[in-house]
Amino acid sequence: MTLPPATVSRRLAHVRDTLRAAQLDALVVTHLPNLRYLTGFSGSAGATLLLPRACLLLVDFRYVTAATELASALGGLLTVETFDRSYDEAIVDVVRRERALRIGIEAAYLPVSRFNAISNGLASRAALPVDSLTAAPALVATERIVERARLIKDQTEVETLREAGRRLGTLARQVPNFVREGRTELAIAADIDAALREAGFSRPAFETIVASGPNSALPHARPTGRPVAAGEPTVLDFGGVYDGYCVDLTRTVQLGAVSDRQARLYAAVREAQEAAIRAVRPGVAASAIDAAARSVLERHGLGEAFGHGTGHGLGLEVHEEPRIARPSPRLPDQVVEPGMVFTIEPGAYVPGVGGVRIEDDVLVTADGCEVLTR
Ligand code: ZN
Ligand code: ZN
Repeated sequence: MTLPPATVSRRLAHVRDTLRAAQLDALVVTHLPNLRYLTGFSGSAGATLLLPRACLLLVDFRYVTAATELASALGGLLTVETFDRSYDEAIVDVVRRERALRIGIEAAYLPVSRFNAISNGLASRAALPVDSLTAAPALVATERIVERARLIKDQTEVETLREAGRRLGTLARQVPNFVREGRTELAIAADIDAALREAGFSRPAFETIVASGPNSALPHARPTGRPVAAGEPTVLDFGGVYDGYCVDLTRTVQLGAVSDRQARLYAAVREAQEAAIRAVRPGVAASAIDAAARSVLERHGLGEAFGHGTGHGLGLEVHEEPRIARPSPRLPDQVVEPGMVFTIEPGAYVPGVGGVRIEDDVLVTADGCEVLTR
């Protein structure tokens, strides 16, 4: 999908504002989802050098045609460059040519080896005509510059995520039919993956989880050859990528008779999910949404059984900001704003009894939220 030029222009302007505030002359974007967000380019390799007045898209030979078409559709917002040797040498060349001095890199995504290669390239070829103000160009580690822009979905993204959520919610209503006595977790996972493609998703957003019986008590079980049996819960956690955007959903289904304990477990998790969804509105801290789910489970004596966060952001990646969890010293507790999209997925895992997780995706609106996956 080609992004509308106005969308790209807005996104680039937003990130340029951040660069200016951080006194950076340029940002090298190497994390592909960030590259895609800024330019619409969806190849498996590429880099962008974002400058105050230009956005250079560096691609290797394989992508020159696609990138050139993209750039022409964007009418001058993007300039395509290609190279003979390597991405890192190309980055060194354009940085030097553009005379950028403080060059932001994405610290979370540029391996040390590449950081060193680019730094050394800039230093070793520093025989620039030395005018009075020239210092050697230097790489500056940055965090979350594009990610912060991606937190609030724009109209194009909201429309895509709404459609993706609608399709995943529809598929979720068929999925209980796949769970039949004697079928293995792997066979059920294969059915779900096929149904995702049939529903218009380009691929699963992550490895589909089918966890039956005792395996359901493991929050991140992988499907096995275990056949599902009557009287057991099965946790089905699956997601799809639709036009580049990820949605994610979990249902817990019960085959045959349900024990009282399992029924209580299910009811408690369902109540926790409803409480968290009701807590979503602009201005609340993400940790308060987590607390809304957690306090319900604690009241049911299941505080210890809920060992993960309540949710995570969705977008070009299946786990992105905001994180809906207890405050952490390492990561910010985001205040929720309209346009954020994230999951609400409380769970309770009791070894010997089984596990329940229920997950839906919400879009924050002006006064609450819209559940995208029901
Ligand atoms: Zn999930
Ligand atoms: Zn999830």
